Amino acid sequence: MSELLSSYLAGSWFTATDEGRPVLDAVTGQEVCRVSAAGADLAGAVDYARSVGAPAIQALTFHERAAILKGVAKHLTAAKDGFYELSTRTGATRRDSAVDIDGGIGTVFSFASKATRELPNDTIVLDGKPEPLGKGGTFVGQHLYTSRPGVAVQINAFNFPVWGMLEKFAPAFLAGRPTIVKPATQTAYLTHAAVASMLDSGLLPDGALQLLCGSADGLLELLGTQDQVAFTGSAATAATLRQHPSVVHGGLELGVEADSLNCSILGPDVSVDDPEFELFVKGVVTEMTVKAGQKCTAIRRVIVPAERTDEVIAALSGRLSKITVGNPADDTVRMGALVSLDQRDEVRKSVQALRASADLVFGDPDHVTVVGASAANGAFMGPVLLRAHDGAVEPHEVEPFGPVATVISYSSVAEAVSLAARGGGSLAGSLVTHDPAVARQVVLGLAPWHGRILVLDRTDAAESTGHGSPLPTLVHGGPGRAGGGEELGGIRAVLHHMQRTAIQASPDALTAITGSWFSGAERTVSPEHPFRKSLATLRVGDAIVSDRRTVTGEDIAHFAEFTGDTFYAHTDPEAAAANPLFGGIVAHGYLVVSLAAGLFVEPNPGPVLANFGVDNLRFLTPVKVDDDIAVTLTVKAITPRSSADYGEVRWDAVVTNQRDEPVATYDVLTLVAKDH
Ligand code: NAP
Repeated sequence: MSELLSSYLAGSWFTATDEGRPVLDAVTGQEVCRVSAAGADLAGAVDYARSVGAPAIQALTFHERAAILKGVAKHLTAAKDGFYELSTRTGATRRDSAVDIDGGIGTVFSFASKATRELPNDTIVLDGKPEPLGKGGTFVGQHLYTSRPGVAVQINAFNFPVWGMLEKFAPAFLAGRPTIVKPATQTAYLTHAAVASMLDSGLLPDGALQLLCGSADGLLELLGTQDQVAFTGSAATAATLRQHPSVVHGGLELGVEADSLNCSILGPDVSVDDPEFELFVKGVVTEMTVKAGQKCTAIRRVIVPAERTDEVIAALSGRLSKITVGNPADDTVRMGALVSLDQRDEVRKSVQALRASADLVFGDPDHVTVVGASAANGAFMGPVLLRAHDGAVEPHEVEPFGPVATVISYSSVAEAVSLAARGGGSLAGSLVTHDPAVARQVVLGLAPWHGRILVLDRTDAAESTGHGSPLPTLVHGGPGRAGGGEELGGIRAVLHHMQRTAIQASPDALTAITGSWFSGAERTVSPEHPFRKSLATLRVGDAIVSDRRTVTGEDIAHFAEFTGDTFYAHTDPEAAAANPLFGGIVAHGYLVVSLAAGLFVEPNPGPVLANFGVDNLRFLTPVKVDDDIAVTLTVKAITPRSSADYGEVRWDAVVTNQRDEPVATYDVLTLVAKDH
């Protein structure tokens, strides 16, 4: 008997109390392992995640969590040969495995680096600017994100056992949420290998990642309002989960990535001789055959101008006839096996359903020539292309989760858009056109129905990542039938796991709560210039109030001549007088900012290493000749960098005139040494 796959629960490996269900090799039909969760202490696992995992992750800053993720991704990279070997048993070719394994690891690297660059070295995130709520400036609103005390249960589909696990784990971990991952039974052995490697790295805090191999029965009952279930799989299972009492009555958050009848549209402008025609055909064939079409983003509906339908079918058939099907370990094989014989039966059933309103124009769902393996034992199926009848219904309703697509004709751009919409909401759509007007009309028509849209033409083709590839930086998820969920999309995916709360308070209270200085809060002005302080002694609220300086006509004329910025408002008194906003010569905004720097600077070498920019610069009141200006500079936020001996300091800068009116406001960004 093969090995019974263990689960990792509450800090140790657990083996089920029964013999488990056998999982067969997709190519040879041999038993790979057995899977069961019988006897697993699910309540113990949930409690461990909440009481051990969540506090341990949440004790770390976003940058510390990101550094751990980076280390885990490196560890996985070193172990990936073993994953590739196992992946072949799922029916995947080397190219398919790269999407799953390297794609998954790349996603973790991407989240680690985005979090370091875009999140503070802190445990909370401020969302947007403060909202003044009273005229006196004593009552202010601020949105902020905090981590939740719950667990993320991730229930994954069989088709991406590594990527599916990692793309959900990385943002949850960054958000401070521990994960219990439940892989699909059919490919759980590959997820098991990846999770074991992540745990072996020794980098993850206890309780951050648990693995449940086998049934999740009874798990959702244990979850509540601070937990989340992220499900990827069939619409049927999604419907069951949506009706679960914990979801309906218990306030459990459920995210769904379900099936999707993605389409690719050929623009009416494209003729057979255009490069876009070849790009279109190539894209459809790639999406039909990568992972043997078992991709949630694969193209199921090929929507083409009626007058091009025959040419498209001929070109697709020509390319599909060159696809060798067989043992994915054989280098000549372009398409491996479906994941299981059951899955092949499902796809055959779907083809049968599609044939109610479409004709088979290429391939045979029941017979295929197989290279390097026995067609009788493996779950092989060749690519199948259908042509929809006018008014066909099934191609917009049936998802064949395999190497199957249906060509559908349209007679106007508006009809192409409405056909795409009949999918009821999709993960990804693509349009191949070189006509900007078509691009605008189709994309704006498609957007409400899609999570992601690729517009492909000769210009972006060489760099395009293709129709079917979800990217860590872009949203993955689609409305309606696709589940209505949203994953990935950079830091959005992290914030999905956190709670956004509007806090209403005084500037002093907000400063204390958030660790960032709010305008109107107390400042500390001391004899020691804050530029003399390293991060060891610099504090939020430390400030300098400068002396005043008169901005003379000579200053303005000199600045104009010196920089070449001789705009009339600074140089031509008559024209400036006629300007409705100025009514006379005014100082350049950049002169005001430069003079302000001269007023607040401490010029000697010290802990301040560099000024790397300004944010939110606004010129509020014109500075006229002989106005007096002064600047107040206050430490707003301090972000030490984990991997450097300096950090970022954000300073609030307010330049005022002699009437105390603000003339310019901005944030000055500096790099300051940790010690000096
Ligand atoms: P599935 O049968 O719905 O299974 C998905 C996951 O749900 C598996 O881990 C399965 O575990 C688990 N599950 C099944 N019944 C459950 C229940 N009652 N309670 C809790 N968990 C349960 O789907 P599949 O056949 O593996 O995947 C194919 C489908 O997934 C396709 O329709 C495809 O479009 C969709 N998909 C969508 C995306 C996306 O991102 N939108 C990505 C990939 C796939 P067991 O395996 O142990 O039964």
